[in-house]
Amino acid sequence: MIITIDGPAGSGKSSAAKGLAKRLGFEALDTGAMYRAVALAVLRGAVPESSPAAIEALLAHIHIEVPHGRVMLNGEDVSAAIRANEVSQAASRLAAIPVVRRFLAAQQRAIAQGRDIVCEGRDQGTVVFPDAACKFFFQADRMERARRRLGEQHATGELGATLESVLADQDERDRRDANRDTAPMTAAPDAVLVDTTHLTAEQVIDRLEQDVRRCLISSSTSSTS
Ligand code: C5P
Repeated sequence: MIITIDGPAGSGKSSAAKGLAKRLGFEALDTGAMYRAVALAVLRGAVPESSPAAIEALLAHIHIEVPHGRVMLNGEDVSAAIRANEVSQAASRLAAIPVVRRFLAAQQRAIAQGRDIVCEGRDQGTVVFPDAACKFFFQADRMERARRRLGEQHATGELGATLESVLADQDERDRRDANRDTAPMTAAPDAVLVDTTHLTAEQVIDRLEQDVRRCLISSSTSSTS
């Protein structure tokens, strides 16, 4: 069974996906980390982002694995490296390139095949898993999202960022993610909208768990009637 959570940066998708997965005994898939791994490979290889052919050639040599929440790029653990700011920006630029999206969507479907999994990203409920059993789309006030992101960065020892720099970064990524031609970030028509602005991580997980259990009951009743 597949559950999807989509929404903008800093809306709390990752912690909600992990927390919900834990409560349900599911796995969790952070698809943003996969875009980040591709971005890291492109940056390291100095591959021109303006050349889809060069990027496609690079993709043929990339192997991404996501064991237990870690991210491996060609066998190397890049879980920390992919969180750098320049990688976030490159990931959102590369995410607009159809060949990158096709490459990662195919891998995401292969990972989820036959599993109980919570997949989070920007296009999970719309494009990658349109038939998911339960779909959520998160929203949150942009200042609150930026404050959360800044808190996370400070917690990991990244002290250079300011609220202004995080906001500028976030606005740019939101704009790109929402306006690209291929798989723009948007709520699936059947997604439940969740505003996380005034909720703690635990409250978000409680809310999702209730919805999922309700959705499971109604789908089992409709399949037996
Ligand atoms: O979720 P995270 O902020 O780590 O994602 C990094 C970037 O990857 C996003 O800004 C977005 O451009 C891209 N992304 C995407 N589709 C997904 C997940 C992430 O386009 N399913």
